[in-house]
Amino acid sequence: MSKSWKIETQAVQGTYAPKATEARIPTICQSTTFKYDSAEHVAKLFDLDLPDPFYTRLGNPTTDAFEGKIALMEGGVGALATSSGQAATALSIMNICRAGQHIVTAGTLYGGTYSLFANTLPKLGIEVSFVNPDSSAEEIKKHFRPETKALFAETIGNPGLNVLDFEKFSAVARATGVPLLIDNTFPTPYLCRPLDHGADIVIHSATKYIDGHASSLGGVIVDGGKFDWTSGKFPELTEPDSSYHGLRYVEKFGPSAYIVKARAQYMRDLGVTPSPFNSFLFHQGLTTLPLRMERHSANALALAHFLQGHPKVSWVNYPGLESHPSYPLAQRYMPKGASGVLTFGIKGAREAGIRFMEATRIIALVVHVGDARSCVLHPASTTHRQLSEAQQIASGVTPDLIRLSVGIEHIDDLIADVEQALNAG
Ligand SMILES: *Cc1c(COP(=O)(O)O)cnc(C)c1O
Repeated sequence: MSKSWKIETQAVQGTYAPKATEARIPTICQSTTFKYDSAEHVAKLFDLDLPDPFYTRLGNPTTDAFEGKIALMEGGVGALATSSGQAATALSIMNICRAGQHIVTAGTLYGGTYSLFANTLPKLGIEVSFVNPDSSAEEIKKHFRPETKALFAETIGNPGLNVLDFEKFSAVARATGVPLLIDNTFPTPYLCRPLDHGADIVIHSATKYIDGHASSLGGVIVDGGKFDWTSGKFPELTEPDSSYHGLRYVEKFGPSAYIVKARAQYMRDLGVTPSPFNSFLFHQGLTTLPLRMERHSANALALAHFLQGHPKVSWVNYPGLESHPSYPLAQRYMPKGASGVLTFGIKGAREAGIRFMEATRIIALVVHVGDARSCVLHPASTTHRQLSEAQQIASGVTPDLIRLSVGIEHIDDLIADVEQALNAG
């Protein structure tokens, strides 16, 4: 296991190292519990003095293998897998922010994250300020308060596909003494490693490219291990935890304090645990992630170029296109490719959008992204249909917008499918 390996080697080899006669790949350890010979051994596990598993809500060998590999690939010190991406986001915030406190987030967010931040966290007493990621550092800093505990953003925003200016956001986080939390679902660590660009915590919906085959819901939080929790702003990490007989996380676990606390407190109490079977699939998925991300990105770029030249298309939005406002940031932070999601405007607006979505043959109408199979969605008539047209436009969803999650099929077949579907309208 080596941090110096290239990411392709890390993806294949991971951190799972079988001994002689053990299975070559991590087996699905479908067991709730683990057997011990002495009370003393179990006591040590409960005191977090040993890393062995004792109950699958808190740790499981198959899940360990997935956590170890994604932490290695992101360049972090540890990871905590969860039952969904939503659970990962919620836990990543709750671990450092409680009722009466506050976070700042880029406003360009995945719909589920937006809802969590706009509706549910406020119900729990956590206030959230949404900022335009294009604002200056000074503008963004104005939203910070003494009780602000985190700055949150997505590497590639949704649905605008704007690429985050890591230099600006990490400078704001440093100046205000809070960690920068990044949702890195769209690029994956193969295309971008946020921890290399000043982020402190990385989260994923593993449901998307990490699984890659549309089989399992899951999420993961990766701890970069570099944030200094001892400024006085994060007493829950430095002071004794009364729910854990006085444990002090930073004192006992040093750079892994954040991720150990997330497991020991919030996974213990909320139980948003992945099934070992899903962890097995995520671990398998990571093995081919670099190859898939290369193909997803190449296919998306080729399709974006094709769409740009098509008379029935009014605009194309893909950060890998030179005309995209985020192109310089994409070149800087994800030079290997801009991932597989693009949006475009279809002439004829809503009706044409629905017709297109129903006419594709290979590209399937599903509410999903990040699958090996290509997916299409017309948000105005599906995911965003509850919103008024004005609300839709405010959230970046115009009536003509089509979202494509470009898969890893052969590009000629994808272009032919898109062409016949455009001509069907
Ligand atoms: C899907 C998604 C999520 C939520 O993940 P689930 O696994 O569906 O709970 C969070 N962030 C982004 C960017 C996503 O695409």
